[in-house]
Amino acid sequence: MTQRSLTLMAVHAHPDDEATSTGGVLARYAAEGVTTVLVTCTNGGCGDGPGAVKPEDPGHDPQAVARMRREELAASCEALKVTHLETLDYADSGMMGWATNEAPDAFWNTPVTEAADRLAELIRRYRPDVVVTYDENGFYGHPDHIQAHRVTMAAVERTGIPAKVYWTTVPRSAFQRFGTVMREIGLEFPEPEVPEEMPALGLPDDEITTWVDTSAYGGQKFASLAAHASQAENIFFLRLGQERFTELMGVETFVRVHDTTGAPTPEDDLFAGLR
Ligand SMILES: [Zn+2]
Repeated sequence: MTQRSLTLMAVHAHPDDEATSTGGVLARYAAEGVTTVLVTCTNGGCGDGPGAVKPEDPGHDPQAVARMRREELAASCEALKVTHLETLDYADSGMMGWATNEAPDAFWNTPVTEAADRLAELIRRYRPDVVVTYDENGFYGHPDHIQAHRVTMAAVERTGIPAKVYWTTVPRSAFQRFGTVMREIGLEFPEPEVPEEMPALGLPDDEITTWVDTSAYGGQKFASLAAHASQAENIFFLRLGQERFTELMGVETFVRVHDTTGAPTPEDDLFAGLR
């Protein structure tokens, strides 16, 4: 009997979310022979359209945007050598307060149990050792990210399969470093639209359990982001150039929230205790 390979599953809200926070781990673990599964929950229809048409502009066609972004997602997965891409294809909910938020087919309005059923089926099929998703605020308050968190945690609980579960995060020290570099090169860092009642972004460095060095895969991570160049916030990151981008984004950080291995923290490998 051959031993089955380790499996990583990353659950994300939109096409392009896989690139910035987990592009490095997806590329690195694939290169190490780990099976990588990316689950993208929505079609990204509320993103920027072809020709930089904004979602609030007349002529913004969510179906056309979704088609374009599906192709971009495929190209990104190719860059990261993702083994399996699964799309749940819920309608993008847009930001809090947008009309798209009220649409009955929006991911935000999908009952958690219903979407968790579908994700649980994928978890049973792929049997991931490690699952990665967002924290309860979806990192920065986007409804689809919050929903991806809820659906993932429900599916994990239901199946009891993954040995380790992580939430993506950013160390506060990285925000400071980012700000300094931005000033040096004269670029304005676009602050994400964060709801007022939300806690500050990211975590103090000493609350981060897991620091994974993915700098050797900076080229692939940058290529994955470049595959999503239709989205304005990605263009910002692309302006940094690959070298500076890797310098700033070459270590991916996580909080371990479920663990059956007893591996000591801080750790530098999502699979610590499993190999
Ligand atoms: Zn997103």
